[in-house]
Amino acid sequence: MILEKYSFGVGDRFAHQGKAQLAAIMKANQDGIPVVPVWNKSNREHTTIKTVPTSVRVEAEAAVQALDWQGSYHVDADHIRMKNVDLFVDASDFFTLDVADFMGSSASTNELQVFIGYCEKYIGELSIPGITETFTITREGISVIARKVLLAVKEAGKLYRHLLEKKGEGNFITEVSMDETDDAQTPVELFFILAAIAAEGIPAQTIAPKFTGRFNKGVDYVGEVAQFTKEFEEDLAVIAYAIKEFGLPENLKLSVHSGSDKFSIYGPMRDAISKRGAGLHVKTAGTTWLEELIGLALGGGKGLEIAQEVYRKALERFDELCKPYATVIDIDPKKLPTPETVDGWNGQQYAAALRHDQDCAEYNPNFRQLLHVGYKIAAEMGEGYYAALRQYEEVIAENVIANIYERHLKRIFPAE
Ligand SMILES: [Zn+2]
Repeated sequence: MILEKYSFGVGDRFAHQGKAQLAAIMKANQDGIPVVPVWNKSNREHTTIKTVPTSVRVEAEAAVQALDWQGSYHVDADHIRMKNVDLFVDASDFFTLDVADFMGSSASTNELQVFIGYCEKYIGELSIPGITETFTITREGISVIARKVLLAVKEAGKLYRHLLEKKGEGNFITEVSMDETDDAQTPVELFFILAAIAAEGIPAQTIAPKFTGRFNKGVDYVGEVAQFTKEFEEDLAVIAYAIKEFGLPENLKLSVHSGSDKFSIYGPMRDAISKRGAGLHVKTAGTTWLEELIGLALGGGKGLEIAQEVYRKALERFDELCKPYATVIDIDPKKLPTPETVDGWNGQQYAAALRHDQDCAEYNPNFRQLLHVGYKIAAEMGEGYYAALRQYEEVIAENVIANIYERHLKRIFPAE
């Protein structure tokens, strides 16, 4: 199973927008952007919403059938670990192996030595095609990187072999993710991480490093765009070189996580992949749920009331909702509107504050981030929330499609 050159990961917390998400992908394909959909949902989301991994497969298949999508599509077990992988085996054909728990813990001395031996020939001046500067690689330098990442990659290897046994070779796509770690990885670190992945025999088709800067959920990139662009381009060069050097899969490509709404870096990303003919996977951060709230608010009546109630309760439970996402949100509580203010808004005002339109004076990133993590409130509303999604399906779908197609796909991927 080979992942296509351009793929876009969509989350759908409440599993009602699969068709709208696919419609956006299809619009991009009509424009000559050959992108395929990947539906992803993590164990954390399943636990909060009380859904099971099979529901994602059911949703994807229903959307594909309803819209008669002839291209491929995948279901991603997002950020799985050994303790929860088995829940996802049947429903998924894409596995994002999360090894963050083991980053920073060292492998055994023997394992380190074997790995350093494997990398011996890169000691000295390393020049990577496509990167002007050369890198000075020392035994100690490799050892420092290996102590940080080797154990984690070995854990990914265990997870991969576990899946291999359950699903059979060639029947699934493997991603290795390191984005939920403390430190960004440099291009040189990425090169040796890929060496370790190859040595471990993992046929990774995507790799998700942690990039420089902050990738907060549902809001724009925070950091130096020029620095990000340089690293991103170097990472592309490193991957192309590592494929040849280590015999990794030909289609190995970068995966950008929490990729929703990173508008300031989409242009540089698109230019870089276009220039090199590289592939890209972008995994979004479940912001389709915010388009549901926007659609409900715009629908007025009961829909607007639900949107207002979600905000009121989210504000009351601020600490509880924000805690699990502390490293990927930045909310200034002083800039949050009071629930009374929000109750006085009409649908347009609610939508304007929530929708990520940077040219709109009413847009409030604090309001947006709190609602982003507030999906638990809607989950607790249960059938009342689902009934509203059905009632306001049309206006919600319009917003889901516009968000994915206009604000994401068109900006990220070049037409071919
Ligand atoms: Zn991630």
